[in-house]
Amino acid sequence: MSIKLTIAFMLVANVAGGLVEVLPTRSSQACCRDSTLRSCQEALVDPSVLLTREPLTLAGISLHFTSTIEPHGHVYKSAAGDEAIITYNQETGAVFGTLKTVTGDSFALEKCSLGFAWKEFSVDSFEADTAVLLDLPEDSTTGVLQAKAAADNVTAASYSVMFYYTPEFADITADIDGFIDQVLAETNQAYVQSGVPLTATKFCTERATIHDASGTGSSQLISAFRGMKASVAELRNTADSAVLLATDFSSCGVAYLNTIGSGNTISVCKKNCCLGYYSFGHELGHNMGLTHNKEVASNNYYPMGHGHLVAGGQAPLATTGVRTILGYSASGHRTRVNYYSNPSLTYQATGTPLGVVGEANNAAVLLANRLAMAAVGDETATCSGTSTSGATSTSAPTTTPPTIAGCLKVNAIPTMKPFGKKIKKVKDADACQKKCENEASCSYFKFKDHKQLKRRVCQLMQIKYNAKTTWTSGPKKCQ
Ligand SMILES: [Zn+2]
Repeated sequence: MSIKLTIAFMLVANVAGGLVEVLPTRSSQACCRDSTLRSCQEALVDPSVLLTREPLTLAGISLHFTSTIEPHGHVYKSAAGDEAIITYNQETGAVFGTLKTVTGDSFALEKCSLGFAWKEFSVDSFEADTAVLLDLPEDSTTGVLQAKAAADNVTAASYSVMFYYTPEFADITADIDGFIDQVLAETNQAYVQSGVPLTATKFCTERATIHDASGTGSSQLISAFRGMKASVAELRNTADSAVLLATDFSSCGVAYLNTIGSGNTISVCKKNCCLGYYSFGHELGHNMGLTHNKEVASNNYYPMGHGHLVAGGQAPLATTGVRTILGYSASGHRTRVNYYSNPSLTYQATGTPLGVVGEANNAAVLLANRLAMAAVGDETATCSGTSTSGATSTSAPTTTPPTIAGCLKVNAIPTMKPFGKKIKKVKDADACQKKCENEASCSYFKFKDHKQLKRRVCQLMQIKYNAKTTWTSGPKKCQ
């Protein structure tokens, strides 16, 4: 981690709520430019709390740590089943997050150009999506790999994604790598909790040469994306799939349906839906042969491959149900949850099945197609020079901080405080410094020497804010 990032995070340490402190100021940054947002507030973030795995409070909801998820996600749940996934890449310092409640509220934490924003989506304003039928001939290896998968429910598979983003997406997304890690973590968590041994990974990230704009049709955009390079194979760049991240077109997402066998594993995902609505995992699901719930869609490839409208069953969802990732919005099923339909699983908050045998079992289709999906590309190409990998977070522009920015703390003054236990048996000051370097929220250290090793002490130090009315404080630079 760079020194600059270490300092930036250290200075917003000790925020109320543990991870995020939402400030009363509405953020005016580009990351808030989104008509589906109910609110977009400046926020303080202390990612070091993620390393302790202690409970968090987000939007007033108490959440406990349950697991980590690839590539850099930390999964938290409430007793009721509300789910938060927070990405924290310790190498780059990138933090991204989402919180979705069982009653349908959807929040995101995003690193913007200056500080963080805490967003609440107006879920009802998300549009539907489109699955486009190509009906191209399939190659012969797909069937062979499907047969192999049918005989093996256990072996884990992993598919790679070649990511592109429109210039318009870049205009409102300061941390593109963090965004990608976040949607991958959410999707991978869906696979895990739906009983599918599958993982999505990032292959490369590249700026697209096509644009999106208000009024762009979904089919029009995916066609333009498909034709952006000389061939679909070139577009995938030897990855198993290609995804375009965009901001403004006529739906939440668009994908070609059941295209593993032809290599047209291509989709487009709109930023807000990707983050607030599981649209990334939804569109990739279409590529792998999944369709919406049977009330609105048929599946000519896999009779069991429909999404599901999960029935209500108990408070607070006694009469209102939810829907799986491939479920379309329906009366009484407004909330989309991070599960693929699977009749052998029960949704915790409703106590009702997540699928129907032979009819709504997206998990079975993913299971059957996972080896074929992983074999679409061979991942032998290299990333081009326009990749953002590892660069976005560490190369943030160093502009003069504005008068009011997300990193300023009102009615507070900074003081340096020891944190964590005194670490004993640390050889020397260099070793103590190393420990500080490896700890995101450490800014200084102190080391006490002694001729006996067991009495040498290393203490890490961080900046904390003390309440002090009429004072406003902040770091030298808002990152
Ligand atoms: Zn769809």
